[in-house]
Amino acid sequence: MILFLFRVIQVERDIQVALYQTGRKVAVQQSLGYGEVAEFALAQYYFQQEIKENEYIQDYVKGQNLGIVLLCDREETEYIHLKASYTVEFPISLFSWDGLSMTAQCKQHYWNGRKISEEEGEEYVYITPEGEVYHLTDQCSYLDLSIYRTEIEEISVLRNLYGQKYYSCERCADKNENAEFVYVTYYGTAYHTSLDCSALKRTVQKVLKSEVSDRRICSKCGKNAH
Ligand SMILES: [Zn+2]
Ligand SMILES: [Zn+2]
Repeated sequence: MILFLFRVIQVERDIQVALYQTGRKVAVQQSLGYGEVAEFALAQYYFQQEIKENEYIQDYVKGQNLGIVLLCDREETEYIHLKASYTVEFPISLFSWDGLSMTAQCKQHYWNGRKISEEEGEEYVYITPEGEVYHLTDQCSYLDLSIYRTEIEEISVLRNLYGQKYYSCERCADKNENAEFVYVTYYGTAYHTSLDCSALKRTVQKVLKSEVSDRRICSKCGKNAH
């Protein structure tokens, strides 16, 4: 069971990275002015390229590579916003669960040909709204945007990957008091009763370092920083 949980994390990571790489490639392509259909087709193509040799996905994702449903959010005009939904299957049938429904998201600004680091010489860092840390790079693997579902009964014993407890989200706690399932992220500290909670719609934000003085530096990407 524990081994299986590690595999779930591995699958999540790999899908998140594939989504991120896909977003980057599409964002660059899209700056050349292809249409909406092309954007989705490109995203599908790049995403499948990214995951095609991934054994974990083949072994653990329901429907394997093609079982991952990829969506482009068309409401965004400045950004490419990708979502991947999939189900991780248990190797054996436990407690009559079918598996874990998972979602990964990625949002990237269309490439505008300018290097972020060249803007005004100020130091920028990366954050997610729910997190308590800031990151020196948007490539940090702890900048994890994935969401997973768990039973409310387990929330008191569950810990995030920093070893912290989950607390009920201020924004969505009142809306659904009898929720059987809740949604959490690996590095956040809030649990949400709704997938639509605005606090869960996480995107990586680039902010000035001076704006995040209440946050700690990430233990992963900040390891060698002074
Ligand atoms: Zn919430
Ligand atoms: Zn980091």
